[in-house]
Amino acid sequence: MSKREFQTEVSQLLQLIIHSLYSHPEIFLRELISNSSDALDKLRHLTLTEDSYKALPFNPRIDLELDEENKTLTIADTGIGMNEEELVSHLGTIARSGTKNFLSQLSGDAKRDSNLIGQFGVGFYSAFMVADSIEVISRKAGEDQAWRWVSDGKTGFEIERAERPTAGTTILLHFNEEGKQYANSWRLQEIVKKYSNHIAFPIFLTYDKSEWDEAEKKSTKIRTTEQVNAASALWRRPKSELKEEDYKELYKSVAGGWEDPLFWFHTKAEGSLDYTTLFYVPSKAPLDLYQAEYKVGVKLYVKRVFIMDDAKELLPQYLRFIRGIIDSEDLPLNVSREILQQNRVLTSIRTASVKKILSELKNIAANQPEQYLKFITEYNRPLKEGLHGDFANRETLLDLVRFKSTKVEGLTSLADVKSRMKEEQKSIYYITGGAEPLLRTSPLLEIYKKKDLEVLILDDDIDEIVFSGVDKYGDIDLKAVNKASTSEDLKDEAEPEKAEALQPLLDKLKATLGENVKEVRASVRLADSPSCIVSDEEEPSMKMQQMLRAMGQTDIPALKPTLEINPDHEIVKKLLARSDDATTQDAAWLLFDQALLMEGVPLQDPAAFVQRLNRILNLSI
Ligand code: ADP
Ligand code: MG
Repeated sequence: MSKREFQTEVSQLLQLIIHSLYSHPEIFLRELISNSSDALDKLRHLTLTEDSYKALPFNPRIDLELDEENKTLTIADTGIGMNEEELVSHLGTIARSGTKNFLSQLSGDAKRDSNLIGQFGVGFYSAFMVADSIEVISRKAGEDQAWRWVSDGKTGFEIERAERPTAGTTILLHFNEEGKQYANSWRLQEIVKKYSNHIAFPIFLTYDKSEWDEAEKKSTKIRTTEQVNAASALWRRPKSELKEEDYKELYKSVAGGWEDPLFWFHTKAEGSLDYTTLFYVPSKAPLDLYQAEYKVGVKLYVKRVFIMDDAKELLPQYLRFIRGIIDSEDLPLNVSREILQQNRVLTSIRTASVKKILSELKNIAANQPEQYLKFITEYNRPLKEGLHGDFANRETLLDLVRFKSTKVEGLTSLADVKSRMKEEQKSIYYITGGAEPLLRTSPLLEIYKKKDLEVLILDDDIDEIVFSGVDKYGDIDLKAVNKASTSEDLKDEAEPEKAEALQPLLDKLKATLGENVKEVRASVRLADSPSCIVSDEEEPSMKMQQMLRAMGQTDIPALKPTLEINPDHEIVKKLLARSDDATTQDAAWLLFDQALLMEGVPLQDPAAFVQRLNRILNLSI
């Protein structure tokens, strides 16, 4: 017998599972059954596709055996099994990146953390909530040696050779105080029906059934084995036969969801391609949504046979929050990952699935605004990623994303923005490049306020990248207010004289600021502020450049901004009247620096800024 220690993360996780007041310990059974189901799926797939496995027996079943007296339960399957090495690595370490991510999000607040566990599902280890000792006896399909793994869930486990007549895995739970309530056949049947009714394999329960003996006039106990689940691939049944509860249950048992899903889309396609898809939108965004190593949520089946659950090519990346099933009649059972990447059948299913999901979302937006608000609160950002990458569906995605705005509370759609456009309004305007309060007080918005034009507040960090590539909504231009050319839209007739009169001052300012600015020119977009900075059409904004540098991108050329001056501002008028001197030079710098500050760009030389400010203050006091 050899003793091993758990990986540190496992011990941490176990501590947490056992000591956090977890509100649904019953899910241990769902987790163990779903592992058995996965193991059966894997073996079936191999017996269908790998020559060396073809001769192996495949009698798929999951058996629960209850010993009420000794308070033990075994969960046995005829699946793929595990050999010594796999027992050690699968049940002694945490390989799943999602689990590590989960651990890193824990706060130490028991209530909050147990919610997190609930959303996440901790797999095999959840059995330690209800058992103070767990034995796993497993024999890998195609191998002769079986192994026993035993642990109390504290520091480590022991592993030794064992006997098992056939391949598969048996898990023996010795219930603890908390777990004793599950040493009850009613309770077990109820839990299986609740969470695992539509697992594709039969689940049997063996227990002591009480039966009334008419002759003896008393009830006796008879050892009985009964199937307790429906065992059908529910997604293949017609929609008309399925109830809301069926969908919710399938979400929890197959798609690994915890809370009820927000909504689901069930499609059966027949014709040139035959397939069924059932997609769920979780009510909360998955915890790993923004991790590079996110867990794929869609499982691929071929003719009801599970094929894989980690194929990132089933849906585009921006729809990675979708959970569910794609079941195809046309793919070969032995389809490999390499084949998937360029398979025409899968490409067609994927294209149609994306269209379907997006059009259903559009329906919900139109007909169930409250539900849609819940959706968009969680998923606005991934949809924006779609705008960046999915050109074919850009128009639909533009209708689905939502925006903050200067005109309405909460979020608004582009369709609504369009309906509010003024008659003389040429484009839809937006501002990017910082947090919401900074954007809302930007001097760049002044003219829009004055002219009563709506501006969208795009404060998400990916907005500038995404929307610099989106220049139209239907036939209307989308324009960033901090781009130099956008002010063309706003020009008044009286403009040219004003600019001309200002020219001598503009020249002086340019001479003072030198290479720090590309150009100094008269502005038409300012009302209350004396100055602002803008960028050229093709160039990232000053704020964006700063962010790219902060992200470690060092090869960005130092792009110079254009300084715009408000010809109508008091300070500017006074400066124009003044002859060139030290004060004018201080003022030039102050006009430039304050415009940078309003953009959220830190000053290169704060000390110089303060000295100038104090000189000017000194004059006025
Ligand atoms: P997950 O199922 O999400 O991978 P679990 O903690 O539930 O995480 O299980 C860890 C791993 O242990 C599984 O991925 C699988 O490789 C292995 N495993 C667990 N139960 C079984 C079983 N009944 N048969 C074969 N392998 C199993
Ligand atoms: Mg599992």
